[in-house]
Amino acid sequence: LPAASELVARFPLTPNPAPASDPEYDAVMAHLSFGVAFSDHMVRARWTRDEGWQAHRTAPFGPLTLSPAAAVFHYGQEIFEGLKAYRHDDGSVWTFRPGFNAARFNASARRLALPELPEEDFVASLAALAAVDQRWVPGVEGSSLYLRPFMIATEAFLGVRSAHELEYLLIASPVGPYFVNGFQPVSIWVAQDFHRVGPGGMGAAKTGGNYAASLLPQQEAYDKGFEQVCFLDAATNTHLEELGGMNVFVVDADGTVRTPALTGTILEGGTRAAILQLLRDAGRTVREETIELAPLLEQIASGQVAEMFACGTAAVITPIGRLAGEGFDVTVADCAPGSVTTELYTTLTDIQYGRRADPHDWMYRL
Ligand code: PMP
Repeated sequence: LPAASELVARFPLTPNPAPASDPEYDAVMAHLSFGVAFSDHMVRARWTRDEGWQAHRTAPFGPLTLSPAAAVFHYGQEIFEGLKAYRHDDGSVWTFRPGFNAARFNASARRLALPELPEEDFVASLAALAAVDQRWVPGVEGSSLYLRPFMIATEAFLGVRSAHELEYLLIASPVGPYFVNGFQPVSIWVAQDFHRVGPGGMGAAKTGGNYAASLLPQQEAYDKGFEQVCFLDAATNTHLEELGGMNVFVVDADGTVRTPALTGTILEGGTRAAILQLLRDAGRTVREETIELAPLLEQIASGQVAEMFACGTAAVITPIGRLAGEGFDVTVADCAPGSVTTELYTTLTDIQYGRRADPHDWMYRL
């Protein structure tokens, strides 16, 4: 990728009104939570079938004006991404593998019959927003500026077909750690009556419909006293897929690490991919394969499974301490963070925050 300094000009700052400045800035930065406050600006571009991408710009953050007939409201034609800008000790701002997210955004675009956004424009939008909203990148431990690129079908048309007019937008939210309790094991409810996706569906794409499908089971898990929900595959209802917003890993007592294979019904996480690389770097045996629930429960009970964890950009790496569903309830690794989980968390966050060498050139300076 070209340097951010060469890309920022692709999304020039609009000359109109002085950027909004949030009177709550000090309060927001003092009490960071996830996804509730937003930086001063947003980046946008428009696409039409006749003219392609146009009107790339950085503008004050604010409400959008859309027709109530905009296709996104009716048929959910939209995709999104999630990544973070990290402040290093020397004040510089970096992001993690933006090329991975740019490529995944375009893979999602293809599944939703949306136009692709050139990868350099995707990265340029991150650079432009980070440049103008530098002050919103927090510096305290575990915090970051969460970046949310998305594309929506804006055409006012109620016919069911791919829209001829769209917008690409990027907004940002300063965030603290995702789970209020920090690096503490979470409890997982395994949904057996609901699936988020099915074979041939949109599971490998990052699109709102998949999350809409996960909300009710997530709510039910929450009502039962669990923090997260784990989905099983829709075809057989017997093997683990992923959580609502995170991939899942199993660490065996013999040191082998397993994660569900990319079958087309789970989202390929950037964190998942990085973890697989770090494990291979460390000489561990890693397997991407089918993980059946029934034997897994026995292996947890017998001590053959030593650790489980979930991973994703927002929550990084989170130990799983308890796995329950209709007719079972097991505790993993005495509900304490395991050594492999802890080491991965430390290695990954050290790379992201610039505290250790970055052997794979994952970090990109914004
Ligand atoms: N699965 C789902 C369904 C997700 O929403 C996410 C978050 N993007 C992940 C996995 C993890 O992906 P990543 O590591 O790229 O954040």
